[in-house]
Amino acid sequence: MNEDKSLRALRGRLLWFVDDPEVAGEAAHRYVADGVVVITGGLVTAVGGASELLPTLPPGTEIIDHRPHLIMPGFIDAHIHMPQTQVIASYGAQLMEWLNKYTFVEEQKLAQQGHPEMLTRFLLDELLASGTTTAAVYCSVHRQSAEAFFAESERRNTRMIAGKVMMDRNAPAALTDTAESGYADSKALIERWHGKGRQLYAITPRFAVTSTPEQLRLSGQLAAEHPDCFVQTHINENQAEIAFARELYPDSDDYTGIYQDFGLLGRKSLMGHCIHNTKHEWRAFAETGAVAVFCPTSNLFLGSGLFDWARARREGVRVAVATDIGGGTSYSMLRTMAEAYKILQLQGQSLSAFAALHAITLGNAVALGLDHLIGSLEPGREADVVVLDPAATRGMAHRLETARDLSEELFVLVTLGDERNIVATYVAGARAGRPEGGA
Ligand SMILES: [Zn+2]
Repeated sequence: MNEDKSLRALRGRLLWFVDDPEVAGEAAHRYVADGVVVITGGLVTAVGGASELLPTLPPGTEIIDHRPHLIMPGFIDAHIHMPQTQVIASYGAQLMEWLNKYTFVEEQKLAQQGHPEMLTRFLLDELLASGTTTAAVYCSVHRQSAEAFFAESERRNTRMIAGKVMMDRNAPAALTDTAESGYADSKALIERWHGKGRQLYAITPRFAVTSTPEQLRLSGQLAAEHPDCFVQTHINENQAEIAFARELYPDSDDYTGIYQDFGLLGRKSLMGHCIHNTKHEWRAFAETGAVAVFCPTSNLFLGSGLFDWARARREGVRVAVATDIGGGTSYSMLRTMAEAYKILQLQGQSLSAFAALHAITLGNAVALGLDHLIGSLEPGREADVVVLDPAATRGMAHRLETARDLSEELFVLVTLGDERNIVATYVAGARAGRPEGGA
């Protein structure tokens, strides 16, 4: 991956997770009040207290002093749509109308030369400015959109998961492929990009409504032929969508059964939404290890419903969290978790700051099966790092005057935080484009 063999060290307040706070409590996180992350050749090679580690570094080592800021693993977004950065904040519709009225109109522009490249540059700039260093990305139906995305991600050396959307019905003609061309284009993209540098492929049938049984069958075949690729799709987001999917696939037991019948439900399957899963469906998720992807701002904005995280946990289902731009309304994973907190509050559930920050780092890395690579500051991990100033805004600085301990400070950060709190983002040890106002 990174050819950069240079040695550098980041100094600040370190926070990362080694376990799930909902399971391991206080033992789940590591906090070092004056710590150093040592980075060599794009990887974390040591982490610990400044007083112990600094004397061990060779003379002349570049030490970037971010004190008193917080240093964490880069954030991970498990579901986002590259073609929808100019669909975000489109008024007044729920899912099916929103797709037809806004999204499918905008996605047609990706056939234009240069348009996917422009949207990709914008998206990656925005993600990095928000502290997000990995995302699972839907491109458009056009093969070129995924080519453009991967090329730009590779240039920036970001660890990204992406795929060309497949849809062969119930969408404008300009946005449909065929079962055969969707298969062939996806296969060509997998061969070209999956595992190239830091790029990973996700087989991406948009959802059952926009794919014929033949397309889902070929998607399942692709997944069987490439078991190390991800599968990403949507499920149980909205009642009208569910009714339509059931009508199109009358032979399947339920919505989850549609994907299961075509071999699309497994540990690498990232299933967007899962708001209206039935007991039978939760069980299928638990048995196959499929991941339910919770997209708080999108679920609220499109009026889709409240994700029941406690239920998912009880059923033993793996959960990831995501923005779902452009149904979602913020690129910031902090902002996303603030809305997650409110969704859980509406159901009598809670979400600690530690649980929220775990979810967007190690939690998502585990859900993606990438925790051996990203999501932590442990030695050996890729050095994707975010530096945060919890007192970046006037309101936050004012509130923090009364914070008594770390957990209270972090709760303020999660509840009020967004891209304004990002001081710097490092991608495999290299500092990404400096966000405005960054120090
Ligand atoms: Zn989505």
